[in-house]
Amino acid sequence: MDFGNITSALPAAVLYPSSPADLAALLSAANSTPGWPYTIACRGRGHSLMGQAFAPHGVVVHMPSLGDAGGGGAAPPRINVSADGRYVDAGGEQMWIDVLRASLARGVAPRSWTDYLYLTVGGTLSNAGISGQAFRHGPQISNVYELDVITGLGETVTCSKELNADLFDAVLGGLGQFGVITRARIALEPAPARARWVRLVYTDFAAFSADQERLISPRPADGGAFGPMSYVEGNAFVNQSLAADLNSTGFFSGADVARIVALARERNATTVYNIEATLNYDDGDTTVDQVLKSVLDELSFEKGFAFQRDVTYVEFLDRVHNEEVALSKLGLWQVPHPWLNMFVPASRIADFDRGVFKGILQGTDIVGPLIVYPLNKSKWDDGMSAATPAEEVFYVVSLLFSSVANDLARLQAQNQRILRFCDLAGIQYKSYLARYTNRNDWVRHFGTAKWNRFVEMKNKYDPKKLLSPGQDIFNN
Ligand SMILES: Cc1cc2nc3c(=O)[nH]c(=O)nc-3n(C[C@H](O)[C@H](O)[C@H](O)COP(=O)(O)OP(=O)(O)OC[C@H]3O[C@@H](n4cnc5c(N)ncnc54)[C@H](O)[C@@H]3O)c2cc1C
Repeated sequence: MDFGNITSALPAAVLYPSSPADLAALLSAANSTPGWPYTIACRGRGHSLMGQAFAPHGVVVHMPSLGDAGGGGAAPPRINVSADGRYVDAGGEQMWIDVLRASLARGVAPRSWTDYLYLTVGGTLSNAGISGQAFRHGPQISNVYELDVITGLGETVTCSKELNADLFDAVLGGLGQFGVITRARIALEPAPARARWVRLVYTDFAAFSADQERLISPRPADGGAFGPMSYVEGNAFVNQSLAADLNSTGFFSGADVARIVALARERNATTVYNIEATLNYDDGDTTVDQVLKSVLDELSFEKGFAFQRDVTYVEFLDRVHNEEVALSKLGLWQVPHPWLNMFVPASRIADFDRGVFKGILQGTDIVGPLIVYPLNKSKWDDGMSAATPAEEVFYVVSLLFSSVANDLARLQAQNQRILRFCDLAGIQYKSYLARYTNRNDWVRHFGTAKWNRFVEMKNKYDPKKLLSPGQDIFNN
């Protein structure tokens, strides 16, 4: 099973490697044994949605055991912060929460994150790794200096932009197709102590998205520098039960919720939006209020509807874990997750709002957040495998549905309607974390040039098509 809890598959065997050499041995054997019948999938934490880390009738490699003690001794330290604090070397099986803790012990931290930290370094780097810092720093794949990869041929290769660059670019965002990431050298920055965390309420989509883009865009007047906000995301709330949705953020007080609900009623708004943003700062920094005020003064949220909290940097970064603990207790973390993640070009996000938030999703029962925020394509490296829309600004749209009422089929059909709407409207979106089952869909996803490169790299580094069969790219 995986986090999606929609599909399942039985492997023939599970390998618990105690070192990268075990993985190299497996892949070498697979290559040198005539008629070798098993595909091979590395499973980080199995946080995929549709079996991407499965190997039906093949070998699943349980990556966390690379970081285990291997026989009960002290665990080999597979997270090492460099002496100058400029980077951390982390095992591909390590979780970001542990990378954070180890880095913070040295006063530094990675600069680009995912919303949830109990994901593995190898797992997120195989996709992209995005959150509200990516407008400024790019996705996690843009923040890697070097990798150790065991290719599908069983060879251990160190790669970077300078060394074996074709493998480096292919692996980052490469959906596990070319090799196993056993070490990633990740960029660090001095860690801030605290985060001022704000949510700004809108009832008008145009104002909401214009302000989001203002916050994430380089400012010509400042020589192309970004504004001061550290993190920018946002949400749409489309439910009749607006109060329940606002409560489920865990951010607003009961009185705040009552005020926002009254505002929505007064404005006759079917959909409410909020920008979620942070401003990181250090202890003793007395300018934070002033800096934040100067940013908020430029924005057009509903007057009087800015809400603030002040938390440690770790509390902010690890915010989703609290939800996990609370939902797990209720058995609601383990339900099916028919999530729909996509990148929508900025020029079409208003059409998406009209057709989806104000259209398809109106009047339906929704459990789970609807996340929407813009990113800058120039912070992505198009030479890497990850696919993004053609426009400079595109929106991450993450519709994180939970099926809690035996309604999986309805939610999946709804996702199909959303995708069909986008197709019919000519919205040139790219899927994120998707699994296509049809080769033509993968070709369309990557675009011809990127697809041809992807195939070329597959033939070079995993010619027997052993790795990550659960992505369903080269299975037929
Ligand atoms: C609650 C939750 C929140 C999330 N939030 C975000 C978010 O904010 N931003 C974001 O970008 N993503 C997010 N994700 C998605 C996440 O990036 C993917 O689930 C990703 O696959 C990481 O999960 P994992 O480490 O368990 O990898 P798995 O699901 O185990 O593996 C994912 C794929 O990578 C391959 N793989 C795993 N390890 C390696 C390795 N070391 N080398 C090569 N290939 C490997 C697998 O074979 C598989 O194909 C979230 C997921 C969940 C469940």
